Amino acid sequence: MNTDTDILIIGAGACGLSAAVSLEKHGKKVLVVEARDRIGGRILTIKGSGRDEKIDLGADFVHGLPPALLEFINPQIDFLERADSNLIFKDNKLELSSSFDNNSTIIDQLVSETLDKDMSFQKWVNLKDRGHSDQVRSIMDYIQGYHAADLDEISTKVLHDIETDNRKEQAVEDSFFLKAGLNELISRLRSKYSGDILLNYCAKTIHWSKEGVSVSFINPHAPSLELKPIRAKKLIITVPIGVLQSVDKVGSLQFQPSLPGSISKKLSFFKMGSAIKISYAFYDYFWEKIGIDDFFFLFDPTPNVQFPIWWKKGRTLNAWRGGPLASSIKCSQEKERVDIAVRELARLFNKPGEFIRQGLETSYVHDWETDSFSLGAYAYVKVGGKQAQEQYSEPVDQVLFFAGDIGTPGAFCSTVNGAFLSGIHVAEKLCSVLCTPCS
Ligand SMILES: Cc1cc2nc3c(=O)[nH]c(=O)nc-3n(C[C@H](O)[C@H](O)[C@H](O)COP(=O)(O)OP(=O)(O)OC[C@H]3O[C@@H](n4cnc5c(N)ncnc54)[C@H](O)[C@@H]3O)c2cc1C
Repeated sequence: MNTDTDILIIGAGACGLSAAVSLEKHGKKVLVVEARDRIGGRILTIKGSGRDEKIDLGADFVHGLPPALLEFINPQIDFLERADSNLIFKDNKLELSSSFDNNSTIIDQLVSETLDKDMSFQKWVNLKDRGHSDQVRSIMDYIQGYHAADLDEISTKVLHDIETDNRKEQAVEDSFFLKAGLNELISRLRSKYSGDILLNYCAKTIHWSKEGVSVSFINPHAPSLELKPIRAKKLIITVPIGVLQSVDKVGSLQFQPSLPGSISKKLSFFKMGSAIKISYAFYDYFWEKIGIDDFFFLFDPTPNVQFPIWWKKGRTLNAWRGGPLASSIKCSQEKERVDIAVRELARLFNKPGEFIRQGLETSYVHDWETDSFSLGAYAYVKVGGKQAQEQYSEPVDQVLFFAGDIGTPGAFCSTVNGAFLSGIHVAEKLCSVLCTPCS
């Protein structure tokens, strides 16, 4: 097959870009295609209106520092200073909280007894009717909040692996913001890759054989525009799991011939989780005026609140809800978002609603669930899926390679770091298939 490029990468998020940088370092000819009109995928930094602060509408935190990331990020220069203390709303007031500290240890201890038999976290709770314990209930909140997972589906085995590794990597506790926003990481990756990125190139049909691939595209903004198919010897697919599993959506991929049954089965072990984040920009640090010291996270364990987790980044308060309930929150309209802030923050800070309303400059949200090129926030591994995750990047017929945030087992699963490392990993796999080992 005559090819246009040696290696084609679908998706210019953290994973696709990190794969492109790694492959280029090893002298490979790479081309990246991206369905959106921008790079970065689920990293989306915007400038707040009339302010110097950056708002991250997608990923916000750098969770832990794998050594490979230090080539792109200098913690001393790039990290935004942040408070160490966290608050919890208890007995109708805010008090200091020990936060996430013990979650990894507790999960580790809790589910280690079930390791020979994988099950969902909810089943583990039901087995001994453990749902009445405060500790278990707080862990259930954490699994939904941090892992964006459905308790009825997430694998205890994989959860155990993630949390054991979390203790080593400190991926939850050592969470940092970039001063310039996470887009800075994307820009730095881009600057290390000299090849082309074709924007508005939405992959549709992938014709593949042992000899290579031919991929057809549409321009999502001008579907009638004819785009020439691209042929390559190898293909790396980094689209999110939600897109990969979708059918008849703008970003859905069609494989011709269909993927082998074993690969479709592997993909069925992953599920895109839901999460919603609203960023509320305030005119000033209003909490300081009411005697509340600097804080990082604010936890609200009150039953049935819409947003159980908040965090502060400069003058922005971010409201977070992960897990299945996230999909039911209506906040696409500014008025709905203001109502939420007025209700929730007035209660948490024990102030009249009007006080919150007057201090609020504006709010931002991005709906990742209806976004055609993510179809959800981030993925988790379902019961029985441990091996499927470990083998995520195993090539299909030495031609198709899957990569992305879910492809990194352990602490960095479904994070920017996971996406970045998966890009490096798939590049190494591909180099080894091409018989020129990466060193
Ligand atoms: C609201 C939210 C908050 C988050 N918070 C954090 C956080 O604080 N810290 C953290 O580490 N992680 C966080 N994450 C997860 C993090 O954003 C992802 O793990 C990471 O960005 C995934 O990178 P990726 O390259 O694997 O996928 P993506 O960034 O999704 O990149 C895949 C690319 O493929 C493109 N694409 C899709 N379909 C097609 C197609 N058919 N043709 C061509 N291109 C296509 C997409 O447009 C996209 O650019 C968050 C995610 C969300 C949504």
